[in-house]
Amino acid sequence: MTNKCEESFMSKVSGFHAHVYFDPAQRDEAVYLRREVDSRFRVRLGSVQDVAVGPHPKGMFQIVIANDQFGTVVPWLMLNRRGLDVLVHPETGDDVADHTRFALWMGQDLPLELDVFCENNQYRTTTA
Ligand code: ZN
Repeated sequence: MTNKCEESFMSKVSGFHAHVYFDPAQRDEAVYLRREVDSRFRVRLGSVQDVAVGPHPKGMFQIVIANDQFGTVVPWLMLNRRGLDVLVHPETGDDVADHTRFALWMGQDLPLELDVFCENNQYRTTTA
């Protein structure tokens, strides 16, 4: 059931990101998972980042998930993440909230570098 508050909240969510994290020893698993996602879903995939970038504390790749894909991509990740830690966050325009109180974690939640979201930080101009 949808009420006015839920409608107004959902109108703020322009989409979601999933960030799949890996240690160097898990890189092959991450690359395999990325390929599996690419073959199953029409999603935009970020390249494999081997080092920490932006708020992300270690290597990861990004999956850009449209609102209408959430119900298929996220459950698939829940069942197939190959032991990798995954952050799923909405895109509401509030970067800090998106990566903290609005965030969904699979596996272990990792400490993010939230300072990158401070004003005047160059990172704001790139994808988080
Ligand atoms: Zn993100």
